[in-house]
Amino acid sequence: MQFDDIAQALDALGARPLHRARVLRHWLQAIPLTQGRRPLDQFLPKPLFEALPALMAEWQGLVQLHTREPAGDGSERLLLTLRDGQSVEAVLLPERSKAWGLCVSSQVGCAVGCGFCMTGTGGLIRQLGSAEILAQVALARTLRPVNKVVFMGMGEPSHNLEVVLQAIQVLGQEGGIGHKNLVFSTVGDERAFERLAQGVVKPALALSLHTTKAELREQLLPRAPRLSPQWLVEQAEAYARASGYPVQYQWTLLDGVNDEEEDAIVELLTGRFGVLNLIPYNQVEGLPFRRPDPEKSRALLRRLHQRGILTKLRDSAGQDVEGGCGQLRARIQAERPV
Ligand code: SF4
Repeated sequence: MQFDDIAQALDALGARPLHRARVLRHWLQAIPLTQGRRPLDQFLPKPLFEALPALMAEWQGLVQLHTREPAGDGSERLLLTLRDGQSVEAVLLPERSKAWGLCVSSQVGCAVGCGFCMTGTGGLIRQLGSAEILAQVALARTLRPVNKVVFMGMGEPSHNLEVVLQAIQVLGQEGGIGHKNLVFSTVGDERAFERLAQGVVKPALALSLHTTKAELREQLLPRAPRLSPQWLVEQAEAYARASGYPVQYQWTLLDGVNDEEEDAIVELLTGRFGVLNLIPYNQVEGLPFRRPDPEKSRALLRRLHQRGILTKLRDSAGQDVEGGCGQLRARIQAERPV
């Protein structure tokens, strides 16, 4: 189900653009129908108001909460089932000032096939519709006050580009999410850079770089577009300057694989409008990669800082509930099929 289906259903009930915006705000921001600036029963055409409970239940029924697993770091991993029995993950991430971020999925599975990722091992199962992405946010907001949405869950957003961009536009307009708090995370794709720059709502960009070496990148991300790290960084830099939001360069630290590229990182990222996020690998049983020694990761962080690269050392959320894209889904499916 796409956002256009929602819009058409509202139009068929006589909704004008202002009506549509108010209805979407109530759904996406989990505002009860009886609350808000002006009572909806006085604002909407009667048939539309009367149809709303059933309509909203239908939209919300696109994703259902199957499991909610809190982790020791404060994050909460949500396993969500879709109408066709497929499932995806979303993760609630505590932010400052009692607000929460939400990491959403854009696909069931993923075709990029990153060698260190549980989701990548299963390939792409299907695309999510924009309404299914919006429903993840609406559901999460019934649990926590979400003010940030990052597209870093299952799937590669640029492989479902138009759908993700539509969801971003709705979230930035009616969803009450500040544009810089929408984060499009990608392995890099020519068309994505083009389309992001044209959007009415311009999200922040996260680029999964992982290495400065083109050949190693092809091995680690075997079905990502063959674009050199240099070219990717130049495109990301141009978008960051246009949007005003720094790029988040994502770097999953793999022991002995990509944790000794200090000089090349300095050469590639010096003077860039961005921050490098080093994320020590969250080990996955059955995959050959290892998490580096913590002191080695911290030493790399220190040296990069000393050499002028804005760098952060981050943990992927939910380590103790098998965090990392697709791991919760894989474990729960193995234990009790959904
Ligand atoms: Fe896909 Fe992201 Fe996993 Fe790579 S890390 S396979 S892009 S979900």
